[in-house]
Amino acid sequence: MQSLEAELEQARGLSVSELADAIESIGFECTRCGACCTAETNDDGADSDADAETTEAHTATVFPDEVRTLLEGAEEDFDDEPRELAADGATADEWRDVARPMPYGLAEGEDGHLVGETFEWALQTTACGDCVFYEEDEQGVGGCVAHEDRPLICRTYPFSVALAGTSQPMGEAVDEEGLVRAHECEGLGRDISRADAEDLAAALKERAVRELEEAIGVRDNYEPASPASDGVVVHDSEGAKRPDGTPVEE
Ligand code: SF4
Repeated sequence: MQSLEAELEQARGLSVSELADAIESIGFECTRCGACCTAETNDDGADSDADAETTEAHTATVFPDEVRTLLEGAEEDFDDEPRELAADGATADEWRDVARPMPYGLAEGEDGHLVGETFEWALQTTACGDCVFYEEDEQGVGGCVAHEDRPLICRTYPFSVALAGTSQPMGEAVDEEGLVRAHECEGLGRDISRADAEDLAAALKERAVRELEEAIGVRDNYEPASPASDGVVVHDSEGAKRPDGTPVEE
């Protein structure tokens, strides 16, 4: 297996034009269905009752600087009218409003709270499990209230690049072309303009590079840390942090 550094070199050398060719060939247009911004409903197959359905909270990786961009966006762009989070009309002014520890690898403690170490941040979710930045208008058409500041994972969904050390969102790929993988999405297969394909390809390359830089930073900065007061430590490329984004100081 290649080192993360070798993968990073490969990511930096990706051709935007070739990625755009692949995206054009697969095809994509966002239908604003909201599936990539909301909780996932799983039908357990026991029977057809709604009771048999379980929901899994929306999970999307967000880098530490992207969390700060979302927070700054709330302060700068919406000075007089702070950006409202879909959750409860609260405004985004604290780390926890925007991000939560990625739950993978965490265990449930005695009091039911999650405990342990994790290596990523995820976009914060509402009580329903949807992304806090997702909201629907009166006609039920979904949208992102942080659109200009949305993280790379959102800018590039449903695509990923098949390089080790980069993330492959939402399970197995359903289509592929060259190094580009496409994941489940009802917008796949639709016509896309060359300009949009190139924009998407550029963001996809940027995401692959950033994911690998983050993975290298996490590896290089990892120091075992005692669990924070509420039992969770997030190791990101900047070091060990509490769930509120503050550094864990030993
Ligand atoms: S930040 Fe915006 S685009 Fe990304 S998951 Fe949330 S609502 Fe969707």
